[in-house]
Amino acid sequence: TEELILRSEKLSVAGQLAAGIAHEIRNPLTAIKGFLQLMKTKENQNEQYFEIIFGELNRIELILSELLVLAKPQASVFVKTDMKKLILEVTTLLETQANLKGVYIENRHEREEAILHGDPNQLKQVFINLIKNAIDAMPNGGKVIISSFFEEEEVIIKVQDEGEGIPESVLTKMGDPFFTTKEKGTGLGLMITYNIIENHSGKVSLISEPGTGTTFTLAFPIKKGRPQR
Ligand code: ADP
Repeated sequence: TEELILRSEKLSVAGQLAAGIAHEIRNPLTAIKGFLQLMKTKENQNEQYFEIIFGELNRIELILSELLVLAKPQASVFVKTDMKKLILEVTTLLETQANLKGVYIENRHEREEAILHGDPNQLKQVFINLIKNAIDAMPNGGKVIISSFFEEEEVIIKVQDEGEGIPESVLTKMGDPFFTTKEKGTGLGLMITYNIIENHSGKVSLISEPGTGTTFTLAFPIKKGRPQR
């Protein structure tokens, strides 16, 4: 069992991020330039080169759109947000895509609504990222369980998968900008996720058991306490 409490220092490493962005965008740009050059000299293979260029442009677009999400907190709009409702909306959004991959999303929430003071769009992004990672971790299908309960003045939300788990070498790098083990990953999802959680005075930790799965645990201060019974 490996556990890691994620540190917020990771979020403010602007220099590291800038270097990463430059690197991540320069690579596909270099490829595009090279293939354009080739297209001039080897016209018979243009169609193949075109595909590669198109793929590299898509990659730049994806990286930039994820970075824009990261830039959003400046314009965040905090309102009363029902977390249970929000999570169910995200589940509906991702369900079809998940089911096609043999992954089923199960929700187990305490009856009471959990009202947070937060930005619904950013909070949705958190659960989209965590659930997508959970789906990616289970290439042969499985279950994602999202549960929530109350503990004193906090709501605790868990996102649990039955994936491969995370080796220690990966665990320490998770949330670093551009760190990914996926062929088509950007390595920005967790950094954005941690940033948003921090922005909502939340805490996040994860526990991962190789061969059994990974559980992310989020804790947010709640606006109203548990209703009196
Ligand atoms: P990306 O999904 O683009 O790779 P993320 O920042 O979301 O970027 O994740 C970084 C890495 O953390 C992933 O490539 C993967 O190796 C690891 N990871 C994240 N979530 C999980 C999970 N639920 N199970 C196993 N590995 C995970």
